[in-house]
Amino acid sequence: MARENGFVHDEGIANELAAQFCFQRGLERFAYSYLYNARNCYLRWGALGKVKQLDERYPAIEQRNTLLPIATIETRIERLDLGTVMEVSEAVSGEIVLEQLVQKLMLIAVEHAGAERGLLILPYGEQYRIAAEARTGHDEVEVQVQQASMLSSDLPDSLLRYVMRTQENVILDDAAVQTLFSEDEYIRQRRPRSVLCLPLVKQGELKGVLYLENNLAPRVFTTKRLGLLKLIASQAAISLDHARLYADLVQENNDRRNAEEALRASEERWSMLAENSSAGIALIAPDGRYIAANLAFQEMLGYTESELQSRTATEITYEEDRAATEAHIAEAQKGRRRVYRYEKRYLRKDGTLMWADVSSVFVPATGSNSGFFTVVITDITKRKRAEERLHQKEAELAHISRVTTMGELAASIAHEVNQPLAGIVTNAKASLNWLAGDSPNLAEVSEAIRRIIRDGNRAADVVSHMRGLFKKAEAAKERFDINEAIEEIVILIQSEVQRNKVTLQMDLASNLPSVVGDRVQLQQVMLNLMLNGIEAMSTVEDRERALLIRTQQGEGSQVCVTVRDSGIGFDLQSAERIFDSFHTTKAGGLGLGLSISRSIVESHGGRLWAKLNDGPGATFQFTL
Ligand code: ADP
Repeated sequence: MARENGFVHDEGIANELAAQFCFQRGLERFAYSYLYNARNCYLRWGALGKVKQLDERYPAIEQRNTLLPIATIETRIERLDLGTVMEVSEAVSGEIVLEQLVQKLMLIAVEHAGAERGLLILPYGEQYRIAAEARTGHDEVEVQVQQASMLSSDLPDSLLRYVMRTQENVILDDAAVQTLFSEDEYIRQRRPRSVLCLPLVKQGELKGVLYLENNLAPRVFTTKRLGLLKLIASQAAISLDHARLYADLVQENNDRRNAEEALRASEERWSMLAENSSAGIALIAPDGRYIAANLAFQEMLGYTESELQSRTATEITYEEDRAATEAHIAEAQKGRRRVYRYEKRYLRKDGTLMWADVSSVFVPATGSNSGFFTVVITDITKRKRAEERLHQKEAELAHISRVTTMGELAASIAHEVNQPLAGIVTNAKASLNWLAGDSPNLAEVSEAIRRIIRDGNRAADVVSHMRGLFKKAEAAKERFDINEAIEEIVILIQSEVQRNKVTLQMDLASNLPSVVGDRVQLQQVMLNLMLNGIEAMSTVEDRERALLIRTQQGEGSQVCVTVRDSGIGFDLQSAERIFDSFHTTKAGGLGLGLSISRSIVESHGGRLWAKLNDGPGATFQFTL
């Protein structure tokens, strides 16, 4: 079965075992018959070690080995025509282009061997393929260079494998006669007469196989021809190797040139894009120095590219934003973050400021390339200016509303108090007149002094009447959320907070009960307390200017609002006086804010008080 199905190794083992069986039973003749078959099988399979083992173990087998399947040319060194050898050698070794070498090689081999047909088999990666096929036509040899897979209809498979394994040359003088390979499908069907198969070996390594055949005559491949062919084969092995290396090199070169061209094209596209972009684009080294900048970048900042290259990102940043820029660079170098988006101020060459929206990406170092930043900036100065103006307007508005209230109040107070004051002055002058001269009219004087007292009391009444007005004023009542009301005020004081470099902290309790009262009046109170706090910190330089606004649940259903600053505070003795009307320590102060605020809070049934902090500053609190 093994033989029928072409499993030559199984067939060999079966024969060897059958031989042992016969030996054990004393059937020596049969045993040798099996051994002989086994040896043939191993030979065909290429298991030369097994063949050697059998020959050593059973020397008698060799006498029976009548079939000489292989003729190697190793043993037949013959004289060669030197001229032909030189010609062939030169022709083959001079060719470095693989295709042309193969062409030449096949031509010489087929012509010199007198073959009808020739095949060159070369390895392509793991596989062997037919690299060229030559056929002798009427009067010329036709070579077809190709790359075709091998079929059993192309050449004797078993012969080829034998040559590849043993790296020995094989000549079949007359393949029609029984040989080791006569079982081969190709030989059985095509019946080639003369066959020659040469391995192309360089330094013990198989570089290819040359297969030649002639179907017309036996013994075509004579000894003389074989000698020359062997030479061609060894020369071809070397040249083929070089040609293939060369081909690989050419391919590699082409690949690299293509890659380089693609890279150049891509680079060109990007640099076109960068150059024509209206956004400023720059590359920055890890130490902050500029590597390159596009035109828009240069125009935005007023520096030329070479001026930028001698400056760092920090140097052309506005002082207040330098620390942040340096922090970004340090962070990126430590690999903490790669992508940044922020707003910052640049210092133009002419000393003016430019607000920019900055997108920066850090590209870390790879191999020999050190890392760099790509930076894309857009000028947002206009937008920033508009925002600043808006904030200013808001602050002005807040100020105006405060001043207006105060101003109106002051005007009416002045008006009310002016009359009694004028009376006092008039009466005082009259008294002086009555006291002058030799007989002062004391009755008139005491009358005038009584009027003075009356006017003084009236003036005092006016003031307390004013305060009473706030107390009694029928406040508009509505139910509202104190946190929301505070947040509205906080928006109003935002630019004041920034201008004074105050850190604003909010600590608003959730789930507070809503309050009932005049929302606008109470907002006025909060605005007052916050602006007082900010003013109290305006001279503070040695510590943080911190303003805390807190809401909490007080006793029962009370809500407690706290405004705490870290300002200069006040004397303990003044703790109550600061709530008096006209008590002020400020040059332009009216001294009315706190007294009005207390009136408003009290008219809502609440309490407003002040205390000094444990640390610096004061805390104002009111309940509702
Ligand atoms: P004005 O602000 O016009 O002086 P106020 O009635 O609002 O009037 O304040 C009265 C005085 O109370 C202030 O001049 C100041 O001396 C003191 N005062 C108010 N708030 C604070 C505060 N947060 N810290 C220290 N002193 C304050």
